[in-house]
Amino acid sequence: MALADYEGMIHRCFRCGYCKFTSDYSYVGFNCPMYNKVRLESYSPGGLMWLIHAALVKEKLKPSKHLSEILYSCTLCRNCSEECRFQFHEDIVHVLKAAREAMVEKQLVPPMVSQFLKNVYDYGNPYRELKENRGHWAENTGIRQYEKGDEFLYYVGCVGSYDTVSQKAARALGRVLLKSGLSFGILGSREICDGNEVDMLGEKGLFEFLKEENTRTFKELGVKKIVTLSPHSYHALKNSYSDEFEVFHYTQLFRDLIKSGALDVSGGFRTKVTYHDPCFLGRYNHEYDAPREILTAIPGIELIEMERAKENAFCCGGGGGNFYTDILGGGESTPSRIRVMEARETGAKILAVSCPVCMMMLEDALKAEGLENELAIKDIAEIMDAVCGDSGA
Ligand code: SF4
Ligand code: SF4
Repeated sequence: MALADYEGMIHRCFRCGYCKFTSDYSYVGFNCPMYNKVRLESYSPGGLMWLIHAALVKEKLKPSKHLSEILYSCTLCRNCSEECRFQFHEDIVHVLKAAREAMVEKQLVPPMVSQFLKNVYDYGNPYRELKENRGHWAENTGIRQYEKGDEFLYYVGCVGSYDTVSQKAARALGRVLLKSGLSFGILGSREICDGNEVDMLGEKGLFEFLKEENTRTFKELGVKKIVTLSPHSYHALKNSYSDEFEVFHYTQLFRDLIKSGALDVSGGFRTKVTYHDPCFLGRYNHEYDAPREILTAIPGIELIEMERAKENAFCCGGGGGNFYTDILGGGESTPSRIRVMEARETGAKILAVSCPVCMMMLEDALKAEGLENELAIKDIAEIMDAVCGDSGA
């Protein structure tokens, strides 16, 4: 819907500020990562709603580059939609996204946003990498191209395909699927960006183009079921693509494969683990159980929750395109640095993630905090790869 369609709803936000906190207010601090960092009301959900109302709905304030920077500092983590006590709460992130669409139309987006969108348009990925190289991460792994009749398409996404740290998780996921005996394949050079961040940054036209291109490829190959590495891809493919594809995040599939006995976790993994919920798996798609069921099914793992978990999890700061654009910026109060410190307080030795964006954000934060000798960031796919390998862990 366009921004004007939300006018009545935006007007009803009266900046009570509930949406800045966790659900039971027991956590002393703010759960809106943008407000927590900047501490100005214009960078809070309620402040944003009023700025949007004044500038883009009533046109009483001239839309400016500064307004654009405020809008794009939001990580679209969805804490505000989760915590607002009013009936319109589900629409808050829709309004934030519609406001970005309006800024794209007015050509008032920050330079990093335009550059990201241009890269995806020109290359089919934000890294300016050649399409032919997209499947290189899978060389010598035994992970092959998707063939008609395979049960699953393994959709890897841009970060897992091109980023060298995330490629480790992409390979681990593939190895575990091979171990399970499931028939699957990847698209390699035929895969292009799923468009989730393009959509979140407000470029509707480009998102529709990517969706159509990917959908055409899926249909040509007779794809019925898709498993994704990234919760961002999962969100786009599950909720914005055709419902003729059955879409799973890999943690959901692993959980089922453990239950059916196709994956043997008896090798165990003896350590204390805490788990960070990614916004696009948790708050956007309400999948809090699958990753935890995997971790608790592995003998030897002691799962310790952080103070903020599940619907109260604190965003790593990489959502809403910020992983690529870094508009919220660095420093000690960066969401990812706060999050690794929170993980360290649990006494866990591993901070488990199930998202390549969280992985990268938290890895950088770990180094910035100098915690590399105390805590390791591992994707659940990597943990499962170690557990299901021949020697266990
Ligand atoms: S979005 Fe909801 S909780 Fe947040 S300030 Fe507005 S009315 Fe209050
Ligand atoms: S989506 Fe997250 S970062 Fe954006 S305003 Fe809401 S709580 Fe803050």
